Amino acid sequence: MNIGIDIDDTITNSSEVIKEYCYKYDSIYCNDNRLIKNFENIIRGFLDDEITKKFFNDHAVEMGNKIKIKDGAKEIIDKLRSEGNKIFIITARSDKFYEDAQKFCEEYLENNNINYDKLITHQTYKIETCKNENIDLMIDDAIDTCEQLSKEGIKVILFNSDINRNKETQVKRVDNWYQLYDEIQNL
Ligand SMILES: [Mg+2]
Repeated sequence: MNIGIDIDDTITNSSEVIKEYCYKYDSIYCNDNRLIKNFENIIRGFLDDEITKKFFNDHAVEMGNKIKIKDGAKEIIDKLRSEGNKIFIITARSDKFYEDAQKFCEEYLENNNINYDKLITHQTYKIETCKNENIDLMIDDAIDTCEQLSKEGIKVILFNSDINRNKETQVKRVDNWYQLYDEIQNL
């Protein structure tokens, strides 16, 4: 299978670090809880006001370097590859906030020993890319992405996060990489 995998809150524990920064810097950038309230949009890269944009611009690289790989991610990705699957890492991370998102992600993945077949950045909407790359299964923490892909006939598994946990969806969910591996065996 060609398996697409998102980075933030799927391979990595991004929301933990971004949340910590929003709380730390709210009083410095705006002091009106805007960063805290916008936290979900920030992690998705939907930055609709100037102060939030400035905050993310100033700290994206620093946060990006602090973000850690989730337990089991490397092990399961390697296992899936050794079983003949191709791994496509598909992320919304873009040059808007990282000087060179492709290079930043390549280096981050290399430093964390994550092996893959192809990395595709700048993908806020993932449908076209998933179709072009013949993705059979996409793993992502964004409910809307999973639902849109599912409608197009692409298999999806939603990675649970603090942000999506209480939202309603019919999409199959997993809590961790070991559960994800088992789910893939049952497809
Ligand atoms: Mg994500």
